[in-house]
Amino acid sequence: MRKSICTLFCLALLVACSDGKDSAKLHTSQIFVFGTLVDITFWDVDEALRSQAVAEISRDFQRMHYEWHPWNPGPLLSLNQALARGEPAEAPDSLIPLIIQSRELSSQSGGLFNPAIGSLLQLWGFQSSERPQGPPPSAEMIAAWRRQAPAMTDLELDGRVLRSRNPAVQLDFGAYAKGYAVDVAIAHLQQLGIANAIVNAGGDLRAIGSKDGQPWRIGIQHPQGEQEKLYAWLAVTAGEAVFTSGNYRRYREDQGVRYSHILDPRTGMPVDGVSSVTVIHHNGAIADAVATALVVAGPEQWEATALAMGVDQAMLVDDRGVVYMSPKMQQRVHFQDAPAVLQISEAFAEDP
Ligand code: AMP
Ligand code: MG
Repeated sequence: MRKSICTLFCLALLVACSDGKDSAKLHTSQIFVFGTLVDITFWDVDEALRSQAVAEISRDFQRMHYEWHPWNPGPLLSLNQALARGEPAEAPDSLIPLIIQSRELSSQSGGLFNPAIGSLLQLWGFQSSERPQGPPPSAEMIAAWRRQAPAMTDLELDGRVLRSRNPAVQLDFGAYAKGYAVDVAIAHLQQLGIANAIVNAGGDLRAIGSKDGQPWRIGIQHPQGEQEKLYAWLAVTAGEAVFTSGNYRRYREDQGVRYSHILDPRTGMPVDGVSSVTVIHHNGAIADAVATALVVAGPEQWEATALAMGVDQAMLVDDRGVVYMSPKMQQRVHFQDAPAVLQISEAFAEDP
């Protein structure tokens, strides 16, 4: 929550800075959904249309939250329970595009982004609204999970009927549903004829149009969770999404060791060594999935994984503060304080 407030502050700061005489045309509404504050910022939209847009997007988000929730009672939990029993089940309409697209993204990522790992997230206590307490799961439990190795390729979708060859598959779209939802919200705004707006879900956002003819300027959160400090900013054009995955967001702690909520499906263990990854892409769902995948990929594999997933604007910050960037990302990002070590990748010399 602190993070969301900071992001709101940063965004408000950035938007307001250059605003001056036209601030009457700038409006932000907030809704609370997906466990975070969602900001909808409008430029030059009249009040009646803004109210309609906020009410309709709020309704869309509440529905997605209910239908896609992995552990609260609802359609996804019922679907997962059927898969665990080895039974085929009808997927609700709103989940089908998520299953299809995330299966493709998972395959592109070489399984680093793997929305079939709900059972591992549960083992680590991350399928909960509370921060998990106590010691982490035992090595035996993790080894048993690894032997089952649930993957999106275990699933077969026949019309609306979903079957799993592997009863360990439990779907959890936590790494990508927010991006998908932001895309739905942006499409809704466009259907209403709104051309200039930002939908910002706790710092992950997509922006359309511009503000007073200038590209929207947005803030990037501090990778080490220094929330009061703006890390960097960039100008967003052409309906782009900017998504950040970070270990500061959710984690568990035991005996001084911090365990990230982003898990490596190859080892069953939380990722370490990476503080955050930021991705720019024209599609929010893809930006969200890729940001999570690149955290798992780490400094060794982030470039190959980004390229395989069709992304050429990405930045990874490791836990020592070393910043790795693609050249296109470097051209966009303005740091508040220059990073001590900045490595510009040569792997992106050609367009992906
Ligand atoms: P994000 O903040 O978009 O990086 O999403 C993180 C969330 O994605 C976690 O809280 C988990 O619910 C889920 N998750 C963790 N690791 C993975 C992974 N390797 N693949 C897919 N989802 C994951
Ligand atoms: Mg993500």
